[in-house]
Amino acid sequence: MTLEGTNTYLFGADPCVVIDPGSDVPKFLDSIRAAAAERGGIGLVLLTHSHGDHSKGAEHLGAEVVLPAGGETHAGLRVIATPGHAADHVSFLSAEGVCFAGDLVLGLGSTIVPPGGGSLAAYMNSLALLQAEEIDLIAPGHGPWITDPEAKLAEYVEHREMRERKLLSALDNGERSRAALLADAWSDIPLELLPMAAMAMEAHLEKLEDEGRLPGGLTE
Ligand SMILES: [Zn+2]
Repeated sequence: MTLEGTNTYLFGADPCVVIDPGSDVPKFLDSIRAAAAERGGIGLVLLTHSHGDHSKGAEHLGAEVVLPAGGETHAGLRVIATPGHAADHVSFLSAEGVCFAGDLVLGLGSTIVPPGGGSLAAYMNSLALLQAEEIDLIAPGHGPWITDPEAKLAEYVEHREMRERKLLSALDNGERSRAALLADAWSDIPLELLPMAAMAMEAHLEKLEDEGRLPGGLTE
Protein backbone atom coordinates (compact mmCIF):
# COMPACT_ATOMS: atom_id res chain seq x y z
CA MET A 1 0.00 0.00 0.00
CA THR A 2 1.32 3.48 -0.82
CA LEU A 3 1.12 6.52 1.44
CA GLU A 4 -1.74 7.77 -0.74
CA GLY A 5 -3.60 4.54 -0.07
CA THR A 6 -3.53 2.83 -3.46
CA ASN A 7 -3.12 -0.94 -3.33
CA THR A 8 -0.29 -2.45 -5.37
CA TYR A 9 -0.47 -6.19 -6.09
CA LEU A 10 2.14 -8.75 -7.09
CA PHE A 11 0.69 -11.67 -9.04
CA GLY A 12 2.34 -14.95 -10.00
CA ALA A 13 6.03 -15.78 -9.96
CA ASP A 14 9.12 -16.38 -12.11
CA PRO A 15 8.61 -13.62 -13.05
CA CYS A 16 5.71 -11.89 -11.34
CA VAL A 17 3.33 -9.20 -12.54
CA VAL A 18 3.05 -5.89 -10.68
CA ILE A 19 -0.42 -4.37 -10.78
CA ASP A 20 -0.89 -0.62 -10.22
CA PRO A 21 2.40 0.61 -8.72
CA GLY A 22 0.80 3.91 -7.77
CA SER A 23 3.66 5.75 -6.12
CA ASP A 24 7.05 6.86 -7.43
CA VAL A 25 8.46 7.35 -3.92
CA PRO A 26 11.86 5.55 -4.02
CA LYS A 27 11.28 3.74 -0.73
CA PHE A 28 8.01 2.33 -2.00
CA LEU A 29 9.54 1.28 -5.33
CA ASP A 30 12.35 -0.44 -3.42
CA SER A 31 9.82 -2.42 -1.40
CA ILE A 32 8.11 -3.55 -4.63
CA ARG A 33 11.48 -4.60 -6.09
CA ALA A 34 12.37 -6.53 -2.93
CA ALA A 35 9.02 -8.34 -2.82
CA ALA A 36 9.22 -9.05 -6.56
CA ALA A 37 12.78 -10.40 -6.24
CA GLU A 38 11.41 -13.16 -4.00
CA ARG A 39 9.04 -14.05 -6.83
CA GLY A 40 11.67 -14.22 -9.55
CA GLY A 41 11.63 -10.55 -10.53
CA ILE A 42 9.20 -8.37 -12.44
CA GLY A 43 8.11 -9.59 -15.86
CA LEU A 44 5.39 -7.05 -16.54
CA VAL A 45 3.67 -4.05 -15.03
CA LEU A 46 -0.09 -3.91 -15.58
CA LEU A 47 -2.29 -0.88 -15.00
CA THR A 48 -6.04 -0.88 -14.34
CA HIS A 49 -6.30 2.71 -15.61
CA SER A 50 -4.18 5.78 -16.27
CA HIS A 51 -4.93 7.82 -13.12
CA GLY A 52 -1.68 8.91 -11.46
CA ASP A 53 -2.43 7.31 -8.11
CA HIS A 54 -2.35 3.92 -9.89
CA SER A 55 0.31 4.48 -12.53
CA LYS A 56 2.95 6.87 -11.19
CA GLY A 57 5.52 4.24 -10.21
CA ALA A 58 5.09 2.15 -13.35
CA GLU A 59 7.92 3.56 -15.48
CA HIS A 60 10.47 3.13 -12.68
CA LEU A 61 10.38 -0.65 -12.34
CA GLY A 62 12.43 -1.58 -15.38
CA ALA A 63 9.75 -3.76 -16.97
CA GLU A 64 7.28 -3.33 -19.79
CA VAL A 65 4.20 -1.32 -18.76
CA VAL A 66 0.86 -2.27 -20.29
CA LEU A 67 -2.57 -0.71 -19.92
CA PRO A 68 -4.54 -3.21 -22.00
CA ALA A 69 -7.70 -2.44 -23.94
CA GLY A 70 -9.59 -5.55 -22.80
CA GLY A 71 -10.27 -8.96 -24.29
CA GLU A 72 -6.68 -10.20 -24.17
CA THR A 73 -4.78 -12.21 -21.57
CA HIS A 74 -1.51 -11.10 -19.95
CA ALA A 75 0.57 -13.48 -17.82
CA GLY A 76 -2.48 -15.57 -16.94
CA LEU A 77 -4.72 -12.59 -16.23
CA ARG A 78 -7.76 -12.13 -18.43
CA VAL A 79 -8.44 -8.48 -19.19
CA ILE A 80 -12.00 -7.19 -19.03
CA ALA A 81 -12.72 -3.65 -20.24
CA THR A 82 -14.58 -1.96 -17.37
CA PRO A 83 -14.92 1.75 -18.26
CA GLY A 84 -16.88 4.21 -16.14
CA HIS A 85 -14.61 5.51 -13.38
CA ALA A 86 -12.15 6.20 -16.22
CA ALA A 87 -12.64 5.62 -19.94
CA ASP A 88 -9.53 3.43 -20.10
CA HIS A 89 -10.35 1.34 -17.02
CA VAL A 90 -9.86 -2.45 -17.14
CA SER A 91 -10.05 -5.28 -14.59
CA PHE A 92 -7.89 -8.39 -14.41
CA LEU A 93 -9.29 -11.83 -13.67
CA SER A 94 -7.13 -14.78 -12.63
CA ALA A 95 -7.99 -18.41 -13.33
CA GLU A 96 -8.45 -18.84 -9.54
CA GLY A 97 -11.27 -16.30 -9.49
CA VAL A 98 -9.40 -13.29 -8.13
CA CYS A 99 -10.41 -10.02 -9.75
CA PHE A 100 -8.04 -7.05 -9.61
CA ALA A 101 -10.67 -4.38 -10.04
CA GLY A 102 -8.79 -1.07 -9.73
CA ASP A 103 -11.28 1.68 -8.95
CA LEU A 104 -14.34 -0.10 -10.34
CA VAL A 105 -15.24 -1.36 -6.86
CA LEU A 106 -13.57 -0.16 -3.67
CA GLY A 107 -12.94 -1.88 -0.37
CA LEU A 108 -14.18 1.28 1.36
CA GLY A 109 -16.60 4.00 0.31
CA SER A 110 -17.94 4.59 -3.16
CA THR A 111 -16.36 4.93 -6.60
CA ILE A 112 -16.35 8.27 -8.37
CA VAL A 113 -17.93 8.19 -11.81
CA PRO A 114 -17.36 11.63 -13.34
CA PRO A 115 -19.79 12.79 -16.04
CA GLY A 116 -18.78 12.75 -19.70
CA GLY A 117 -18.94 10.32 -22.60
CA GLY A 118 -21.73 8.19 -21.18
CA SER A 119 -19.60 7.26 -18.20
CA LEU A 120 -22.38 6.12 -15.85
CA ALA A 121 -24.06 3.89 -18.44
CA ALA A 122 -20.62 2.42 -19.14
CA TYR A 123 -20.02 1.98 -15.41
CA MET A 124 -23.29 0.12 -14.86
CA ASN A 125 -22.45 -2.11 -17.81
CA SER A 126 -19.00 -2.79 -16.32
CA LEU A 127 -20.54 -3.87 -13.00
CA ALA A 128 -22.86 -6.21 -14.92
CA LEU A 129 -19.87 -7.69 -16.77
CA LEU A 130 -18.21 -8.59 -13.47
CA GLN A 131 -21.49 -9.95 -12.08
CA ALA A 132 -21.50 -12.41 -14.99
CA GLU A 133 -18.04 -13.76 -14.04
CA GLU A 134 -17.11 -16.38 -11.44
CA ILE A 135 -15.30 -14.20 -8.92
CA ASP A 136 -14.36 -15.37 -5.43
CA LEU A 137 -12.33 -12.38 -4.32
CA ILE A 138 -12.03 -8.79 -5.46
CA ALA A 139 -8.68 -7.11 -4.91
CA PRO A 140 -9.62 -3.42 -5.13
CA GLY A 141 -7.42 -0.42 -5.89
CA HIS A 142 -8.23 1.06 -2.47
CA GLY A 143 -9.27 -0.48 0.83
CA PRO A 144 -9.39 -4.10 2.00
CA TRP A 145 -10.11 -7.22 -0.04
CA ILE A 146 -13.73 -7.84 -0.91
CA THR A 147 -14.50 -11.40 0.13
CA ASP A 148 -18.13 -11.40 -0.95
CA PRO A 149 -17.96 -10.05 -4.52
CA GLU A 150 -21.52 -10.97 -5.38
CA ALA A 151 -22.97 -8.95 -2.50
CA LYS A 152 -20.63 -6.01 -3.07
CA LEU A 153 -21.38 -5.79 -6.79
CA ALA A 154 -25.12 -6.00 -6.08
CA GLU A 155 -24.75 -3.25 -3.47
CA TYR A 156 -22.95 -1.02 -5.98
CA VAL A 157 -25.63 -1.56 -8.62
CA GLU A 158 -28.43 -0.95 -6.11
CA HIS A 159 -26.76 2.21 -4.81
CA ARG A 160 -26.69 3.87 -8.26
CA GLU A 161 -30.18 2.63 -9.07
CA MET A 162 -31.46 4.11 -5.80
CA ARG A 163 -30.03 7.53 -6.77
CA GLU A 164 -31.60 7.26 -10.19
CA ARG A 165 -34.99 6.38 -8.69
CA LYS A 166 -34.83 9.37 -6.33
CA LEU A 167 -33.77 11.68 -9.14
CA LEU A 168 -36.56 10.46 -11.42
CA SER A 169 -39.15 10.84 -8.70
CA ALA A 170 -38.06 14.44 -8.04
CA LEU A 171 -38.18 15.13 -11.78
CA ASP A 172 -41.62 13.51 -11.97
CA ASN A 173 -42.74 15.87 -9.22
CA GLY A 174 -41.84 18.75 -11.51
CA GLU A 175 -38.55 19.72 -9.89
CA ARG A 176 -36.17 21.32 -12.44
CA SER A 177 -33.59 23.13 -10.33
CA ARG A 178 -30.30 21.27 -10.01
CA ALA A 179 -29.82 22.50 -6.44
CA ALA A 180 -33.22 21.18 -5.41
CA LEU A 181 -32.72 17.89 -7.27
CA LEU A 182 -29.43 17.43 -5.46
CA ALA A 183 -30.96 18.23 -2.08
CA ASP A 184 -33.76 15.76 -2.84
CA ALA A 185 -31.88 12.79 -4.22
CA TRP A 186 -28.75 13.16 -2.05
CA SER A 187 -30.49 14.28 1.15
CA ASP A 188 -28.67 11.64 3.21
CA ILE A 189 -25.07 12.76 2.69
CA PRO A 190 -22.94 15.11 4.79
CA LEU A 191 -22.60 18.69 3.56
CA GLU A 192 -18.92 18.40 2.72
CA LEU A 193 -19.67 15.65 0.19
CA LEU A 194 -22.15 17.79 -1.76
CA PRO A 195 -19.63 18.87 -4.45
CA MET A 196 -18.89 15.18 -5.13
CA ALA A 197 -22.60 14.44 -5.18
CA ALA A 198 -23.18 17.30 -7.64
CA MET A 199 -20.68 15.65 -9.97
CA ALA A 200 -22.33 12.26 -9.52
CA MET A 201 -25.69 13.85 -10.29
CA GLU A 202 -24.37 15.27 -13.58
CA ALA A 203 -23.39 11.73 -14.59
CA HIS A 204 -26.90 10.56 -13.73
CA LEU A 205 -28.51 13.43 -15.68
CA GLU A 206 -26.30 12.64 -18.66
CA LYS A 207 -27.38 8.98 -18.54
CA LEU A 208 -31.07 9.91 -18.34
CA GLU A 209 -30.67 12.34 -21.22
CA ASP A 210 -28.92 9.71 -23.37
CA GLU A 211 -31.82 7.36 -22.62
CA GLY A 212 -34.38 10.01 -23.53
CA ARG A 213 -35.70 10.11 -19.95
CA LEU A 214 -34.61 13.61 -18.96
CA PRO A 215 -37.27 16.33 -19.23
CA GLY A 216 -36.13 19.70 -20.59
CA GLY A 217 -35.90 22.98 -18.71
CA LEU A 218 -33.30 22.13 -16.07
CA THR A 219 -31.89 25.15 -14.25
CA GLU A 220 -28.99 25.74 -11.86
ZN1 LIG B 1 -8.78 6.28 -10.45
